[in-house]
Amino acid sequence: MFRISHFMHELAQAEATGAYPAPKRRGGEGGALRPHTGPVVIWNLIRRCNLTCKHCYAFSADHDYPGELSTQQVFDVMDDLHAFKVPALILSGGEPLLRPDIFEVAERAKQLKFYVGLSTNGTLIDEPLARRIHDHGFDYVGISLDGIGATHDKFRRLEGAFDRSLAAVRHLQKLGTKVGLRFTMTELNAFDLPKLLQLMKDEGVDKFYFSHLNYAGRGNIHRGKDARHLATRQALDLLYETAWADAQAGGNHEYVTGNNDADGVYLLQWVEQRLPRWADDVRQRLTAWGGNSSGVNIANIDNVGDVHPDTMWWHYSLGNVKARPFSDIWHDTSDPLMAGLKARPRPVTGRCGACQYFAICGGNTRVRAQQVTGDAWAEDPGCYLTDEEIGVESSDERVETTAFSSKRRVIELVPTDS
Ligand code: SF4
Repeated sequence: MFRISHFMHELAQAEATGAYPAPKRRGGEGGALRPHTGPVVIWNLIRRCNLTCKHCYAFSADHDYPGELSTQQVFDVMDDLHAFKVPALILSGGEPLLRPDIFEVAERAKQLKFYVGLSTNGTLIDEPLARRIHDHGFDYVGISLDGIGATHDKFRRLEGAFDRSLAAVRHLQKLGTKVGLRFTMTELNAFDLPKLLQLMKDEGVDKFYFSHLNYAGRGNIHRGKDARHLATRQALDLLYETAWADAQAGGNHEYVTGNNDADGVYLLQWVEQRLPRWADDVRQRLTAWGGNSSGVNIANIDNVGDVHPDTMWWHYSLGNVKARPFSDIWHDTSDPLMAGLKARPRPVTGRCGACQYFAICGGNTRVRAQQVTGDAWAEDPGCYLTDEEIGVESSDERVETTAFSSKRRVIELVPTDS
């Protein structure tokens, strides 16, 4: 995840005081979390969903899936995560609110002092359910909106989904629960981004999460509709200017992006153009951030207990929490994917390996490389920066995002010696 507003607030402070602020100590949002060493865990507790969205990485549908963790198994895993000093659990699905014990799970998580987020499509949240969510002390609720009105309904494949999700935002906002809008951009909904940012403002929403398309599940099937590089740059320009205006005005709204760590490099370019005197400071801070952290600071447990480096790797299991503790699986670098993801630098080749900003971006999203080329360490085809910008010789041999083919599923994960 790339926290645009974090950098914009530092820049606003630098402009106001004439000095770039010192780095904050690690301790989580608001510094309220207990000291941690484990990753943030996104936990898909259930795969069932009342929707069948076009870009769903879980291929979810409205039926039960066998082998999901029982309440007791969830509690046992949670104890292990607590001992492993995992700071935050993001409860997700499918639609997590379809899990009958979701509030028991949330209550237990809060007792153990995790930061607890809920990732939901929002369509089921009426006033009473919003009240239950609020009363259980969720720290944050992310609600997906992929456009305005019919655009969203088309993505979500449910007429009226937009109105229901927006109503959920309002119910939760009224109660004082922190809400974020989650938007996944493709070429079919990019035009609605300005309107969604305006909606965020009008509704007084705290956070905007902009997700680039990643190539997993139905998102991989539809990858031919990924936003083209120019549209991506325009979207980032708009997000940066919006976050900068907010920071300058003393606002505390959060603008974050996910699934494309080249956003950090693009921010550096923005700073070089708009606020060049802080470019060196920002470069240092971005290098300390280091880009993609799948398999390091981000982890995923799916509905049946398989552990993955992040939510986009459901086709690759590192082990199952029913058989081994998460903490054990997470440290195990005998797995070639984990070995590569945990290596510094990662064994990334091609255009990303040669990029002058590799230390900032970390080589970006390995799933896209693997899904398109079969090689998890090849260049990320989702990079929207030009050869000139990243300091490599121009070539016509860029990996292009090709339309999905069910025949292509080569798993090549052994790191190279380079
Ligand atoms: S070329 Fe690769 S490493 Fe460089 S910015 Fe793009 S995605 Fe990141």
